[in-house]
Amino acid sequence: MSAHPLLAELRTALPEDGAVLDAPASTDRYRRDQAAWAEAGVPLAVVRPSTAEQVRDVVRACRRHGVPVVPRGAGSGLAGAANAVDGGVVVSTERLLGVTVDPVERLAVVGPGVVNADLRAAVAEHGLWYAPDPASAGFSSIGGNVATNAGGLCCVKYGVTRDHVLGVQLVTGAGDLVRLGRRTAKGVAGLDLLGAVVGSEGTLGVVTEVTVRLRPARPPERTVAGFFDSLVDAGEAVAAVARAGVVPSALELVDSHSLRAVDAWKATGLADEADTVLLARLDAPGEVGDADAATVEACFTAAGATWAGASSDEAEAEALFDARRLVWPAVERLGPLLTEDVCVPLGALPAMLARVQAAAAQHDLVIATVAHAGDGNLHPLVVVPAGADGEARAAAAFEQLMDDALALGGTITGEHGVGRLKREGLTRELDPLVLDLQRRVKAAFDPDGIMNPGAVWA
Ligand SMILES: Cc1cc2nc3c(=O)[nH]c(=O)nc-3n(C[C@H](O)[C@H](O)[C@H](O)COP(=O)(O)OP(=O)(O)OC[C@H]3O[C@@H](n4cnc5c(N)ncnc54)[C@H](O)[C@@H]3O)c2cc1C
Repeated sequence: MSAHPLLAELRTALPEDGAVLDAPASTDRYRRDQAAWAEAGVPLAVVRPSTAEQVRDVVRACRRHGVPVVPRGAGSGLAGAANAVDGGVVVSTERLLGVTVDPVERLAVVGPGVVNADLRAAVAEHGLWYAPDPASAGFSSIGGNVATNAGGLCCVKYGVTRDHVLGVQLVTGAGDLVRLGRRTAKGVAGLDLLGAVVGSEGTLGVVTEVTVRLRPARPPERTVAGFFDSLVDAGEAVAAVARAGVVPSALELVDSHSLRAVDAWKATGLADEADTVLLARLDAPGEVGDADAATVEACFTAAGATWAGASSDEAEAEALFDARRLVWPAVERLGPLLTEDVCVPLGALPAMLARVQAAAAQHDLVIATVAHAGDGNLHPLVVVPAGADGEARAAAAFEQLMDDALALGGTITGEHGVGRLKREGLTRELDPLVLDLQRRVKAAFDPDGIMNPGAVWA
């Protein structure tokens, strides 16, 4: 069989060593993200451009040949959104690097392939801070964070990626290289097309540069932990903190299944101490921070904590948060995971946690829950059991939890995106008229529908 003519064009456009891969042995590792089950095709090629102009040339060539394009960052996504499609071209951003910091304007211009933690380290050298901190900060890319509108631990106080992106350079699905957004603190010139791109999961174009907003470095945080006998009590404690008017800089929940999985792997001993743990961080300076910490501790106690207290030892506090970050890989050791990502109003958090337990009982499943609880954003990790009906039971629980969240006034995805796993759920959440508007916005960016087909919209 003769080679696809697009391959020769790609090699001309990207002459650098290793910039165009087409042997299955090299392209295989670009086929999937971290989501179990989402369909993944066999790509014609993986390209690794070094400049925005090369990305533009790749997209234009793909458009001429009617070949799909899937942008890819670090492949840490949990919704199958970066999965390859058959015969398509995966555009990896791993060579689109570089961080330029402007300390006066408090912004940085960043290549999409830069890893979140590397950006945070680079700006820290200037006494600055990039707030969005997904638990995957150590390995996910800024381009992926923008395309999924990633959340994280401190979003409860500082907002999500969208709140920190001032502008992007984008190659649209039409093959045009455009700049969206601004560099100024304010700006209302025309429609907010940048807002459409953030969270668009690679369906509108390839982000080739990101301008992010930075903040001054923060004072050290205080940590308050609470141990609970019951998941629902812990949910009540989160609602109580919100009612008390304190805004923690992180408020995370780790349930008994998660604690046991981390213990089995890392022997932290936490599962002997509690059924469910809440971890709060507070970063207001001085006496205000002391008062906030006391209020959170009182809320935990009033909601039924068996123990609550502030940690004065930074290493001990960091160890607790490390245990929280280890939950996903620890639970993954129990079997393939379907990672839920529902988000509900804070007042509905106890009810949603009760529904997670009910779904686990109804379908006879282990569902380990870790949550950015202060945002009402839950990650029930559905462990897919072995056996003939295991996948069907897990899938039924996964769908049911989305319906539960919608019934409680929430959303099917707080931060991971729709990808290829939640397309059906999206049609249950959004009005058909809104879905139609979204499709028409996509068509404006991507007239031939080559960008990441099969993601988000069926
Ligand atoms: C252990 C673990 C913990 C996690 N914790 C969190 C968390 O706390 N918060 C959170 O929000 N997520 C979390 N995630 C999910 C994941 O890390 C995020 O969704 C992240 O933003 C994906 O970044 P990535 O570089 O891996 O993107 P990929 O997985 O490669 O891609 C994700 C999507 O972005 C698109 N994309 C990537 N780069 C570009 C680009 N340059 N232009 C256009 N589209 C692009 C892809 O097409 C795809 O649709 C976690 C994942 C794991 C495995």
